[in-house]
Amino acid sequence: MAGLLMSGSAFGWGREGHETIARIADNNLKPSARKVIEKYLGDHSIVYYAKWMDEYRHTPEYAFTTKWHVARVDENLKYSPYPEAGDAVSAINDAVELLKDYKSLPDSTVAVNIKYLLHLVGDMHCPAHVYYLGRNQDYKVKFGGGYIKPVKEMKIHTVWDEAAIQSSRIWSVSEWAEELDRKSAKEIKAIVAGTPQDWLEDNARRCIVQFDMSAPGDNVAQDFVNEALPLIETQILYAGYRLAAVLNILFK
Ligand SMILES: [Zn+2]
Repeated sequence: MAGLLMSGSAFGWGREGHETIARIADNNLKPSARKVIEKYLGDHSIVYYAKWMDEYRHTPEYAFTTKWHVARVDENLKYSPYPEAGDAVSAINDAVELLKDYKSLPDSTVAVNIKYLLHLVGDMHCPAHVYYLGRNQDYKVKFGGGYIKPVKEMKIHTVWDEAAIQSSRIWSVSEWAEELDRKSAKEIKAIVAGTPQDWLEDNARRCIVQFDMSAPGDNVAQDFVNEALPLIETQILYAGYRLAAVLNILFK
């Protein structure tokens, strides 16, 4: 059972991250876009399906999507695709290309591709889901100490995806979204500029500090969380704005 509960580690942001991203995106959707999208999602908001891809990636029907939750950069922090299995950037680009023609597609095809976008724009903003070619991101640390109890051994990936958040942010996703979503229209325009590949490379430049923040076997505690949370919150906010931008263009 413990194994099951911890299985979030390989999945990307935990519930809090994904749903807060979708909540921020929803706050920034044009009403006309929201109306079209919710029709395809069976009268649910995009928040409802923010984690759908993690819930379905291990079913035989969606096993082909299992590698899409990450994206890699090379030593120069340029996008480095996984040509065979695909990745978040290629899957986002494919979904966008398909959805440009959404009015002529079957409803179920439109719905599933919206679900891909909701989730993958989020995952590619998670520091642990930006893979850096040649760097070790697959190791364990001890997480906890001080106010954070108990101390647990876990992958550093899990710390970034959810443990750092769960140790400090107990608000509902709506409340967290409200705290973060305070940029001006001009600032948002700058954040959403570019393509999904540009966003990945921007994320890679911002998140590379993770390699200075922990090493295999470290005990990471409150000091780590204090440094990690501003980065996590920037990534969540940017993902929310960028997701809204993609959907507003497609469903205008
Ligand atoms: Zn995921």
